[in-house]
Amino acid sequence: MLPILDQSDQQLRTWMLEHGQRPYRAAQIRKWLFEKRANSWEQMTDLPCELRAQLASEFAIWSAEIAIHRKDDDGTEKLLLTLADAQQGSRHSPSAVRPEHETSETDMAGSQRLSLLADGTRSVPATIECVLLRDDKGHCSMCISTQVGCAMKCAFCATGLGGMTRNLTTGEILEQMLQLQRLLKPEERLSHVVCMGMGEPLANLDRLMPALASASAKDGLGIGVRKITISTVGLPVGIRRLAEQNCQYHLAVSLHAPNDELRTQLMPTNRHIGIEAVMAAADEYFEKTGRRVTYEYILLAGVNDGPTEAKQLVALLHGRPSLVNLIPYNPVRGLKFHTPRPGAVARFVEILEQGGLNAAIRHRKGARIDAACGQLRRSSATAAN
Ligand code: SAH
Repeated sequence: MLPILDQSDQQLRTWMLEHGQRPYRAAQIRKWLFEKRANSWEQMTDLPCELRAQLASEFAIWSAEIAIHRKDDDGTEKLLLTLADAQQGSRHSPSAVRPEHETSETDMAGSQRLSLLADGTRSVPATIECVLLRDDKGHCSMCISTQVGCAMKCAFCATGLGGMTRNLTTGEILEQMLQLQRLLKPEERLSHVVCMGMGEPLANLDRLMPALASASAKDGLGIGVRKITISTVGLPVGIRRLAEQNCQYHLAVSLHAPNDELRTQLMPTNRHIGIEAVMAAADEYFEKTGRRVTYEYILLAGVNDGPTEAKQLVALLHGRPSLVNLIPYNPVRGLKFHTPRPGAVARFVEILEQGGLNAAIRHRKGARIDAACGQLRRSSATAAN
């Protein structure tokens, strides 16, 4: 069965014509899925019965299963989704099978369970996470994944520990948004999207862009383009591609260190790219789109949170219209990093502000439900092992 969310509007209209139906039926389906939060073909009562039956025999509304649903008292809800290739066994998806020598690292990380298939190959359950965050202003933001795992291998990140299995499809990216939307109360509306879940969004732009187009479309989720954030490890080619399309999404660059030596230690992608190239691409993004770039900076106790790094950061960002988002480290079991004490965070902010930068501290949400990137998948796999 084909996932309906992977069909473009044009494809669905063509399907309708080929099946003797009027093309406007495609728009009706879209309305049911995006606006009316439908969960089944039977609910789409303005479609003729036979059409509903035909659609049900060819298209699946959901391709993933909800494996875990957790709620925190602060309104945060998190889903762990098991993707279709995992449910069937990954022989259908060769890219999901890992060579034997990689398995010990994966086992150690505990982020992916491995099971032996009948033909001796190993299957890697493809699971992804997405999160719904509510704030006191009534905003409902969703944090979505763009890949199964991540290839960037940032030293502090739970997702990077397991490596990358594959890119998500456009339908799988959209499915996260629609599943999260179904968790809302009738009067609640999704207001923001952040691509800060598992994976590197700019390494999967071809599939992400149509999904974000549906998120912002009037006949999609209707989320303003300026309320959609793409967070990147800093891939200049992808940043330029985004800048050229001038789609007005908000760009967040994960900087995490103000000099190349430290950044390369924390983020191996920096070795071949370097901060200068990342900053040049981000500057171009601002020039082409007029949108101020956010720089994310995780504070890791004793690693990058000292006055020296704060001053270097001031020098690096001086004269660049930007916001620094400081993220106190969210501890990952098995990793040697620590969250700084509040005093160290306050001192860091003070230096940035004295240096004329705009800085904000991003407070943790959903801590009790492992809401940070890659953590639920990791803890659920560890518990199951
Ligand atoms: N690959 C993209 C988006 C996914 S990660 C990127 O690198 O930006 C989203 C953000 O969470 C990034 O800034 C990432 O560095 C940060 N992050 C990852 N692990 C974290 C942890 N344990 N604590 C706090 N922030 C973390």
